[in-house]
Amino acid sequence: MQQLVSANDGIGVRTSGSLEEKITSEFITKTLSELGFKVKVQPFEFKNKEQHFKSNNIIAELDSNDLPTIILGAHYDSKGDGSYGAIDNGTGVAAMLEIAQIISKRPSKHFNIRFIAFGAEEIGISGSQHYVKQLTPTALQNIAGMINFDMIAGGDKMYVHSALSTPYPCGKSTSLYNGSPILRKAIIKTSDSLNNSIQFLEHPKSKEYPKGETGPWSDHFPFSCAGIPIAFLESTNFSINGLYGLDGLSQTTHPAFWDCFDSSSQGACDRKTESRWGIILHSKFDRLDTIDQVFPNRVKEQLEQAVNVFSTFLLTPEKYLDRKTLEET
Ligand SMILES: [Zn+2]
Repeated sequence: MQQLVSANDGIGVRTSGSLEEKITSEFITKTLSELGFKVKVQPFEFKNKEQHFKSNNIIAELDSNDLPTIILGAHYDSKGDGSYGAIDNGTGVAAMLEIAQIISKRPSKHFNIRFIAFGAEEIGISGSQHYVKQLTPTALQNIAGMINFDMIAGGDKMYVHSALSTPYPCGKSTSLYNGSPILRKAIIKTSDSLNNSIQFLEHPKSKEYPKGETGPWSDHFPFSCAGIPIAFLESTNFSINGLYGLDGLSQTTHPAFWDCFDSSSQGACDRKTESRWGIILHSKFDRLDTIDQVFPNRVKEQLEQAVNVFSTFLLTPEKYLDRKTLEET
């Protein structure tokens, strides 16, 4: 993670379409190749404010085979706006690479695991949109599920979501939509079986979202629209009454990220004047040194937890997933 996000001795800021984003894609390609994966670099173009940019998805698997495939994906670009993209999404990429290392030694006999580092998520979820669009019907049918790592450490708690049970705005392809919680439930089952210190949670029902369900704002979105069950790991805090209510946008109650936090109401002391709202992402607070200073060891512990649970799941998905239910969804 240090190599990816550090302002001093890492790549640091890597906005979509930038040279630093390209350097990051080369770093990820090299790391996965050295672990023994077949790595494909998939170039694509995207538009931002009428300008064209180039980016790449990095796709890695051990072997091409016909086994049902589970994708673990994380975007590697960062937002800008003063952010170094430490938690968004250095955390997701670092954990994904660590899990790839574990999987490379003892691959599942029943599932193929495909790792994808997506480019240009911060501009229109461009990388994952491109990836899904270019899949053939056969390739699409072979994907049993997609796990999205986005901001998986740094917030107060760790949550696993599934897609919304009522379809996202998918354009033409709404008829394929899949909002099944099967993958979310399998991950929670894995997590519960491990007796870890940190629990993976399903967020409670809110005004807009049923329990455990999330919106279309990250790389899982095009997969849900294409008919694939997803699980989305995110570190935040759904018990905070934030800018728009109890929606998980506020990531922490720590006073360093608020003008004034009122613990009795779990929200701002003054909703009219609050400017920070406990939000770390897309701001100057999203730096590893800042987060480590405020929360010593938090990122490390949460990443260890994510690596432990997801590597356990991906080594033997058949132990936690009901194949029959999977085929029916
Ligand atoms: Zn992100």
